[in-house]
Amino acid sequence: MADVKQYIAEIKQVIEQRDPYQAEFKEAVFEVLDTLVPVLEKHPEYVQQNLLGRLVEPERVVQFRVPWQDDAGNWQVNRGFRVQFNSAIGPYKGGLRLHPSVNLSVIKFLGFEQILKNSLTGLPIGGGKGGSDFDPKGKSDAEVMRFCQSFMTELQRHIGLDLDVPAGDIGVGGREIGYLYGQYKRLRGSQNGILTGKGLTYGGSQARTEATGYGVLYYTNALLEAQKDTLAGKRIKVSGSGNVAIYAVQKATQLGAKVITVSDSNGYIYDETGIDFEIVKQIKEVKRDRIKTYADQVATATYHEGSVWAFDTAYDIALPCATQNEIDLAAAELMQKNGVKYVAEGANMPSEPAAIEFYHQNGILFGPGKAVNAGGVAVSALEMSQNGERLSWSFEEVDQRLKQIMENIFHNSEAACQTYDLGKNYQAGANIAGFEKVAEAMTAQGLV
Ligand code: GLU
Repeated sequence: MADVKQYIAEIKQVIEQRDPYQAEFKEAVFEVLDTLVPVLEKHPEYVQQNLLGRLVEPERVVQFRVPWQDDAGNWQVNRGFRVQFNSAIGPYKGGLRLHPSVNLSVIKFLGFEQILKNSLTGLPIGGGKGGSDFDPKGKSDAEVMRFCQSFMTELQRHIGLDLDVPAGDIGVGGREIGYLYGQYKRLRGSQNGILTGKGLTYGGSQARTEATGYGVLYYTNALLEAQKDTLAGKRIKVSGSGNVAIYAVQKATQLGAKVITVSDSNGYIYDETGIDFEIVKQIKEVKRDRIKTYADQVATATYHEGSVWAFDTAYDIALPCATQNEIDLAAAELMQKNGVKYVAEGANMPSEPAAIEFYHQNGILFGPGKAVNAGGVAVSALEMSQNGERLSWSFEEVDQRLKQIMENIFHNSEAACQTYDLGKNYQAGANIAGFEKVAEAMTAQGLV
């Protein structure tokens, strides 16, 4: 026992020495390592084979220059990344994020999360992630297109159908995937399965756009059912107003709950009568405007500057769907005061470690991002299958498979909690259920 803890402490020390300034990466990895103690105690060979030392080091990191010209004729340069983290169970799979906060630490944290998330889906996909510090906000369509073309001009030499299949993430939606795919095709020829999240007219999957948000609710529904509880009549705070948030609002409302907030990086909308997902969709996807304008259109809604997690009101379920580290300890304490019983993460790592600790200590049931938001990448893998067989499945078929996958993720996490006597720590359960498959595959493949 002492040996396992000692081993984990050594791995952390190696990371500290190698990457002292990669705060997000360290946060994501350390959170996982601490939950793996019981698995390593059961499998001493993982310690002997230094499995964790190998797991925390990406197989490959690519960093590149992305030159592009803005509308005023200026020559701009951004930094591009692709981290191919782990291919033990399949080709690298994971999104591309375009946001000014992107750096190597952020991409490595997301890539590491993706290893276990993708494993949890039960589908044969490894973990990867990429992106750039380019900010699409305020850019014209032509500028976004030129940036995407330049980004793909370099990225194309590193990806492949059985090697690495990127998709969207923050700042990369249907428009960007279209531009990226068009440029890939010019350089390498038509290969539908090279990217996922494509438009329906050129190889995209039904329900891919909705998948992450719907999946959040399918997981949350399974979580509540396991407590003999129901979504009907629940009050929900959603943060964010991007792709994940929009379809989380829609599905939550369909399942009989009431969503009372959505937000962006400036502020939040509060509507006691329930947020209308169509209006949010129109503002964010068509007009590409600030969420503030929701209040101009809906009489019952009000706009407030600041964090939605600082807004003091009674509710039952928190669905953070914006970005990493949006919930600190103070926000978690306010949740308890507000009567929150469940937190299910639509974003990747939105809760800081102190907040997660607080949930566990205060009986707030917690679904971690890598489990809750796995529906997006799961349907991406279904898109790869459809591209492979040159078929398109119906919306109902994809949605049905998505629901089943999300229920399996919850139940597999719950089963790991039972096996390792972890009570209702679904965070540890998800880490363990995801890790076990990757560890087994890595062991089978020898020293890789
Ligand atoms: N960016 C999404 C995620 O965080 C989806 C990735 C994909 O579809 O490959 O999982």
